[in-house]
Amino acid sequence: MPKTKKENKGSRAKLRAFFIENVGKILSGEALFEISGRKSEWGRRVRELRNEEGLNIVTHNDRSDLKPGQYILIDLKPIPSFERGISKETRAYVLDRNGFTCQMCGAAAGEPNPYDQGRKTRLHIGHIIDKSMGGSDEPGNLRAICSVCNEGASNLTLNRPDAIKLLAQIRRAPGKDQLDVLKWLITKYPKQSEALLN
Ligand SMILES: [Zn+2]
Repeated sequence: MPKTKKENKGSRAKLRAFFIENVGKILSGEALFEISGRKSEWGRRVRELRNEEGLNIVTHNDRSDLKPGQYILIDLKPIPSFERGISKETRAYVLDRNGFTCQMCGAAAGEPNPYDQGRKTRLHIGHIIDKSMGGSDEPGNLRAICSVCNEGASNLTLNRPDAIKLLAQIRRAPGKDQLDVLKWLITKYPKQSEALLN
């Protein structure tokens, strides 16, 4: 059972405290409804925490490993202000268009990050053309990008082993191309393929 805090305060403050106490844990909509004091507008309060206060709360719209009605406060780092302004629909559209995959390194949401195996990949929305270069917040200029790339790790790719870059390209490729690569590898390494499958 997640911890709860009984204090006489507004539902948004109750929800904020509950998320912060349970950072990194999956919380259900039912639990959030209870914590809010059984307020019907609990969902709107959660959106305010995310969009106005920048709490990094994600749902199944952000991460394919979450079910509808599940929420996680990922960590206590605030979401950049431009990202808070992006509508749920735009976020969902961009993430879906990009296959819930970082468009720089190819990491998929929820999987260990290829550059840092200890971290689960979480996706942000980033600009294709940076705002400082005149890029807009329109969906056409947005893309999914993982927190590692977002923090500039991609600038270090020159020092990364080639296999990682190669894997990144394969991971980003359409399924049909991935299957072509698989077929080619199986033909090239028949014994090793068989050993891997057994
Ligand atoms: Zn990435």
